[in-house]
Amino acid sequence: MVNVLFAALPMRWDQYETPLRKSFEDVGLDVELTPSNAPFDPAEIDYVIYAPNSEIQDFTPFSRCKAVLNLWAGVEDIVGNETLTMPLTRMVDFGLTEGMIEWCTGHVLRHHLGMDAHIHGQDGVWRAGIVPPLARDRIITILGLGALGSAVGQALRALNFQVRGWSRSLKQVEGIACYAGDDGLSEALTGAEGVVLLLPNTPATENTLNASTLSLLAEGAFIINPGRGPLIDDTALLEALDSGQVGHATLDVFRIEPLPAEHAFWSHPRVTVTPHIASETRATSAAAVVAENIRRAEAGEPLLHRVDRKAGY
Ligand code: NAP
Repeated sequence: MVNVLFAALPMRWDQYETPLRKSFEDVGLDVELTPSNAPFDPAEIDYVIYAPNSEIQDFTPFSRCKAVLNLWAGVEDIVGNETLTMPLTRMVDFGLTEGMIEWCTGHVLRHHLGMDAHIHGQDGVWRAGIVPPLARDRIITILGLGALGSAVGQALRALNFQVRGWSRSLKQVEGIACYAGDDGLSEALTGAEGVVLLLPNTPATENTLNASTLSLLAEGAFIINPGRGPLIDDTALLEALDSGQVGHATLDVFRIEPLPAEHAFWSHPRVTVTPHIASETRATSAAAVVAENIRRAEAGEPLLHRVDRKAGY
């Protein structure tokens, strides 16, 4: 019998309980599954399924816990927790990936095709003659070529965009021109007409888009940020929007969430704010990933999607 604690908001228990029980059964695990708002003894828990907004923040009493399995892809709120000394995994699942592909592709196509001109132009004026280039003639740069960035890059490539990607270590992703390091960032951004940010939030990625890097883009480029708020210097972005260097920014994530009502992004005519909805972890697919990881740990196999605590993601 394996003791598993589910430590997330109570509403998540309602979504996850059935898929988790089924997934444990599918991988042949005999599990005692307990939500963290029920009585439990931390010293008896083998695994914690975790969301960083859970009330559990001190892992010291979890003396025999073999791994903490994060339900979110982003781990910035937990990676620095010094009481968490056991292995930590993050969420990679096909539901999260497919959701991100759909969200990013939709927003890229909106800007690529200039859809706003017609959606907001239902006023009797016949605006013919605005012809966007074909995707094959448009350069899109993806910052971050991990589980999400490489999948989004390949989806955009399948639509014929010229796709560039940038990561910490140099990657090889079919159809994507790959870059790494500081020089690689300049090359990846120079002349790009669209940028999608799918980097994690770490000290090294803060303000990746700033006045200097924004100036490398093609004039009027669009920015799409479903990554994390601190990846962009907000003041530099607003200045670039006002000067026309950036044509539009679609932002899903912010330094402070919910984005305060008085923030300049809400009222800027060329900013679209979405409320951190780019992609959700889906209970059914996520439960299967969690169950597989516990099965692996119990069988002495390496965990999938283990967080590199030093790198911060
Ligand atoms: P991942 O698989 O860990 O990929 C991260 C990518 O960023 C990797 O390619 C990594 O390089 C690169 N990277 C990290 N630090 C870097 C640095 N200093 N310089 C250059 N590249 C760097 O993460 P993921 O699953 O794709 O998720 C990416 C992020 O998306 C998450 O961290 C989260 O913040 C965000 N997210 C948002 C939502 C939403 O709804 N808005 C949903 C899910 C996730 P290497 O390949 O060399 O390691």
